[in-house]
Amino acid sequence: MGFSLDGAGERLAPFFFEYPGAYRIAFKPAHLPFAQTIIMKSILTTALLFLFIGAFSSCVQSQTDRYVFVVTLDGMRWQDVFHGADSSLLFNTEYTSDTAYFIKKYWTPDPLERRRRLMPFLWSVIEREGQIYGNRDVQNNVNVSNGKWFSYPGYNELFTGAPDDARINSNAKIPNPTVNVFEWLNRQPAYQGKVAAFGSWDVFPYILNEERAGFMVNAGFEDRTEGRMSEQQRLLNRLQHQQPKPWLEAERYDVFTGAFADEYIRTNQPSVCYIGFGDTDEFAHSGDYDMYLDAARQNDQWIADLWRYLQSDKKYAGKTSLLIATDHGRGDAVKSQWRDHNASVKGADQIWMAAIGPEIAARGEVRTPMQLWQKQVASTIARMLGQTFKPAHEVAPPVAEMFRN
Ligand SMILES: [Zn+2]
Repeated sequence: MGFSLDGAGERLAPFFFEYPGAYRIAFKPAHLPFAQTIIMKSILTTALLFLFIGAFSSCVQSQTDRYVFVVTLDGMRWQDVFHGADSSLLFNTEYTSDTAYFIKKYWTPDPLERRRRLMPFLWSVIEREGQIYGNRDVQNNVNVSNGKWFSYPGYNELFTGAPDDARINSNAKIPNPTVNVFEWLNRQPAYQGKVAAFGSWDVFPYILNEERAGFMVNAGFEDRTEGRMSEQQRLLNRLQHQQPKPWLEAERYDVFTGAFADEYIRTNQPSVCYIGFGDTDEFAHSGDYDMYLDAARQNDQWIADLWRYLQSDKKYAGKTSLLIATDHGRGDAVKSQWRDHNASVKGADQIWMAAIGPEIAARGEVRTPMQLWQKQVASTIARMLGQTFKPAHEVAPPVAEMFRN
């Protein structure tokens, strides 16, 4: 997210800097006639009264003052997350173009150091202050419960809290019949109009049923015109159409999704925001392990920048949770199947997740044997806001182990 076109400089609390007039009372009492002084004094009193009411109501609000950000890395394998780059793919010229360059970048014999090279934010800040689930070496298992093991069924399970193999059985652009957690939150008065989603893949508006859900889902090569606009956003709208289109019109590079989200978050400050990255899956399908690693590394960097911004912002700092997840796994047992995922690819139902936030205990890499499910993520997102996800359909409970109490 640190893709600031203004030189990646920290823009702390931009709202307050951009709109200082709202808080400034220009008042010069000297040299004014008496009557004017009285008027100005009453204006000042009224202003102070409003400030007092504002302070009081923000005091009351702070009881439920929680924000949540969700990021997914499409088809990012748990094997690479926990072990770092896989030597049988990294050293293989079939999957890695310039092996010398990429070995230097991602390889070291120590697996703990290696995974830190691939995802340095995950394996520093989140490992220290949050939680990471899915290391099957210690039977900490996270699985999808749908029987499809590809994207739409995975995102459906993640965000509706229930698999739906009967109806969600392709990646076709079919409006999702089931209410998702972001939509449910957007219907609560506290979050109405404060929910937004960004995705690289142009199927997200259907998965999240943008039309019914009523919040912005900016995906594919769609320009953003909603909300407060900036010059940077207008530039990004133009630039995104100028990238090469390896995935035709279906998917833009994550750099645009990341930058769009970054710009929106800073200028519009949503309470609930989802960012769906896609590069990892696309590069894996095309057999480019080097680009898959670069994509994962950059996704981690954007997450780091997002978290740094959130913790530096007056509104978000200390009140915001972040959840990172994936829609499905990929093959590994048969090494060449690392490119693929579907119900016939062994292990493609194996996933991982990570979280950080004020209610999340600092347990780092969770090494206790357990079984978690993708369908628990929706309720977990709501729980991060102190809410219980209760749509009309049955949903899985949150990951209870994740929370302090
Ligand atoms: Zn895929």
